[in-house]
Amino acid sequence: MVRIRTQITATLLSAAALIGVVGAVAILSQMSLTRSAALAEATSVARQLADAVAFKTADAPRPLFERPEALREFVRLQHSDSQRDLVVVDRDRTILADVPGEEQNVGKSFGHDHGNEVGRVIEGSQPLAFVEDSADVPEPINLVAVPIESAPGKIIGAVLFEYTPLLRAAHDRTNAMLWLVGLSTAAAMLIAAFSAFLLLNRFGTGLSGLNRGIEALARGDSGARIGHASGDEFGQLAKGFDTMAADLEASRRQLVDQKAYIEDIVRTVAEGIAVIDGDGRVVTVNPAAADIAGRHASKIEGQDWRSVLDMRGQTGDRLGTGASPVELALATGRRHQSEVRLVKPDGAQLPVIASCNPLNRADGGIVLTLSDISELRSAERAVNDRAEELAVLNRELRETSEATNRLVKLGELLQACVTFQEAFSVVGSAMPDFFGGLSGTVHLTSASRNLVEEMAHWGEVRSSVGQFAPEDCWALRRGQEHVAGPGMLTPRCNHITENGGRGYVCMPLAAQGETLGIVHLTEPNAADRPDWLAERRQVLRGVVDTLALALANLRLRETLRQQSIRDPNTGLYNRRYLEETSSRELRRLERSGQPMAVIMLDVDHFKQFNDTFGHEAGDLVLKQVASTLLDHARESDVVSRYGGEEFAVMMPGTSLVDAAERAEALRKAVKQLHLAHRGRTLGTITASFGVSAFPELGASWTEIVNAADRSLYQAKADGRDRVVAGLRKTDPDWDLSTPGRSAAEG
Ligand code: GH3
Ligand code: MG
Ligand code: MG
Repeated sequence: MVRIRTQITATLLSAAALIGVVGAVAILSQMSLTRSAALAEATSVARQLADAVAFKTADAPRPLFERPEALREFVRLQHSDSQRDLVVVDRDRTILADVPGEEQNVGKSFGHDHGNEVGRVIEGSQPLAFVEDSADVPEPINLVAVPIESAPGKIIGAVLFEYTPLLRAAHDRTNAMLWLVGLSTAAAMLIAAFSAFLLLNRFGTGLSGLNRGIEALARGDSGARIGHASGDEFGQLAKGFDTMAADLEASRRQLVDQKAYIEDIVRTVAEGIAVIDGDGRVVTVNPAAADIAGRHASKIEGQDWRSVLDMRGQTGDRLGTGASPVELALATGRRHQSEVRLVKPDGAQLPVIASCNPLNRADGGIVLTLSDISELRSAERAVNDRAEELAVLNRELRETSEATNRLVKLGELLQACVTFQEAFSVVGSAMPDFFGGLSGTVHLTSASRNLVEEMAHWGEVRSSVGQFAPEDCWALRRGQEHVAGPGMLTPRCNHITENGGRGYVCMPLAAQGETLGIVHLTEPNAADRPDWLAERRQVLRGVVDTLALALANLRLRETLRQQSIRDPNTGLYNRRYLEETSSRELRRLERSGQPMAVIMLDVDHFKQFNDTFGHEAGDLVLKQVASTLLDHARESDVVSRYGGEEFAVMMPGTSLVDAAERAEALRKAVKQLHLAHRGRTLGTITASFGVSAFPELGASWTEIVNAADRSLYQAKADGRDRVVAGLRKTDPDWDLSTPGRSAAEG
């Protein structure tokens, strides 16, 4: 402001000074011009005068120069008529004529030219000006000396012409001009000063108004207005300023509103927001961020982010240097986001998504957004847990269903088995499916109940001996499941081959009130798998129940079968079985071309045993005879009770002759029986034998049996206690001489 004012003042003063200088220069040059013009005029006049002096008019005898009186008259006339003062001198500088009042000087030498100007004019013929300044004159006289030439180049004297009046008149004219110029200059300077004052005043008012407005604006008063009403540029500026200030105020208000709005959002948003500067210092945090970090906002702001935000990996492990999203974003200036765990000061860990967005600023910095996803994670966990539970349930269900299916299939297979052997082969191949890799055995208690025998085994481990006494197994002793293994207090069964690491279970195979044996299952790594049995108990029970039921059924079926084919008193096969078997056997032997013999025998006078010793004694006799027959039988022989006290022995592969011999041996053996019943000796037992054979005595079983029967009757008829063999039906008198016929002993 001051500078502009000073500049304006200086400019205007310079302008005034310039005007003054120009005026002065004009005056000075005018003065110089005036003098030259006066001198030129004087010189011209002086020349005319010199010409007049030298000129000889027609009516004159001589030129004026040569006529002193006329010359003086001429000078006087010039002075009085034309106010011209002049002096005429000759070549010797002697004054020939002078103005009136100075006539005394005529005849004298002119010596008032200090520079010998007159002499030089006479010599050089060029006019010269000079100032006469002598004591005789009250003030200096301006003179111009002009040569007088009588003929060109012939100088005869000089005219000294005074031009002071001319000069004075010129000076007077110049002075008037000087006044004019001076006054104009002064007026110009005054106008300049006044203009400066007005300008400065207007500038001052305009500028100070603008200045006030700008200062107010700078102070932050956006309501500042200049309100200048003038129509000049300052008015325009002020109007522009006011509009701008109004816009600014409106923008500022909008900005304040927006700021409040944004602050409101940042304050209430659920996400934690933290601003971190380029040096890693936390600039500001919203309440959510403070909450997530577990510290008061004032304890976070201004701190290095690492000291207030303990960021870990997803599993809670410490992150390597530079691996956190904050460091990555700060280092690269790019966006980084990852799931991390925030460890609060109390040690609680919070899963969060940390998003780091770089700020668009020269000094770097980021906005860190923290989204708490603990609820999401726990929901996920719950869903996962539920899904896992469902999967487990599903698996269990599937396993149960599979196990059930397998059990049903096992049951069906076992039901289809006719013999124990078949059943155990089924068990051996089916069990690995049920117990997935575990080894085991099925042991059955023998009919005699004094031995438990291994019937089936599966897997690679054998943890029980093959045979043992029932009392060696706790399960059989107590009639309930027995489990033992590492870390258990229960005793190990004696049938277990020692291996401390193994765990095992013995489950009694019980059905229809009877314990048939055990299922034994072993886990070699029980110490590592404490749940090995719990996982399988249900399946094991299912298998045991199914197996027990199947075995009981088999046993029952076997018993029934035995009952249906055996005679309960003697234990020998009955007649029905004999007939079934013999027909089959006969066909087989027929194909292989082998013989088959039949021995029929009947106890002699058996009725008497009954009558004498009672029915019980009779039964005893029958049993002993049967036992004798069995003792002498071969494995392939079928010894049967044919009915009453009658027996039949079928001998596959035996010829008629061999059969007769064996019948004889039997006869002797029976006779040697010594029986006693209730302390009473039963006496000698004898029997009669009929022997027949395929193919000699018949092609069918009936034919052979009938032949044997005929021989038996013949033996009876012949006196009993004897063997009759090979009696044909066609023989008219039951010819006994045919082969095999043998007479009774003694
Ligand atoms: P023979 O020498 O002619 O054969 O005379 P026997 O007495 O042996 O023959 P008989 O046919 O007259 O008598 C058979 C008797 O055997 C009749 C019956 O009471 C008896 N008996 C049949 N079955 C049994 C049985 O299972 N137990 C007992 N104790 N007696 C039986
Ligand atoms: Mg009899
Ligand atoms: Mg009989």
